Amino acid sequence: MKDIDNNNPVPLDRIVNKVRIVMVETTHPGNIGAAARAMKTMGHKRLYLVRPKIFPSAEVTARAAGADDILADAIVCNSLQEAVQDCVLVVATSARPRSIPWQNLDPRECAHRIIEAADSGQIALVFGRESSGLNNDELELCNSVVQIPTNTQFSSLNVASAIQILCYEIRQAASETVEDVSEDENKIPLASTEQMRLFYEHLEQCMTEVGFYDPEKPRRLMRRLKRLFNRAQLDQSELSMLRGFLVAVQDAARKDKI
Ligand code: SAH
Repeated sequence: MKDIDNNNPVPLDRIVNKVRIVMVETTHPGNIGAAARAMKTMGHKRLYLVRPKIFPSAEVTARAAGADDILADAIVCNSLQEAVQDCVLVVATSARPRSIPWQNLDPRECAHRIIEAADSGQIALVFGRESSGLNNDELELCNSVVQIPTNTQFSSLNVASAIQILCYEIRQAASETVEDVSEDENKIPLASTEQMRLFYEHLEQCMTEVGFYDPEKPRRLMRRLKRLFNRAQLDQSELSMLRGFLVAVQDAARKDKI
């Protein structure tokens, strides 16, 4: 039965069980500890570490100031792809505007987007290296980029401070959003990062076969196409439609060659 008078906020627990904070190649162990502390104060739990330079260590634990449970449960991965492959929404964070403009969100929009997507599946919020942030290959795995507004002359926050702010915004957004209890049985799940990776492989192969793409002279075509499709946030049925189209194009091109 539908509860049409529902006015309850979205339970934070349901959101934090879907959201993972991913730190890429963090150099200073203190930042991992401080991030765990920042997460725990905002009710977050799930920390993923991609190739951390030093982990675990006494300094990590000391800076966590009691958020040891988050460190104990932290998942260490070899690549960002591995850390986000099952996610339906991946949001990168950046201290500066990027050369290829990604879909940009402010922290508040980002938090509301996360609450919305939590019904569809797993979500990752990705934080870069202290020295150089995230590289373009890593950004290609993301649907959008969030930049915390700062002093334009001094825009780079400490990574744990950035985590603090975004976890706070998610907490606030959950408390401001009225829970949607109507069950939409027709809702089609979003495509995961791994499904998108397989689609991009197929797209590249198809474009190469029909002579539209030359892997020897790639220019920025694949990057731009990934940006386009990631921004669109395809659901699984849209993705199979596109895969079907690619198969038909390949069939037609192969028949032509016979
Ligand atoms: N020199 C680096 C700064 C990295 S700061 C660069 O130019 O990218 C380390 C990480 O903290 C960033 O990769 C990002 O994840 C986060 N961060 C720092 N400042 C931020 C801001 N203003 N908005 C969003 N994330 C930020």
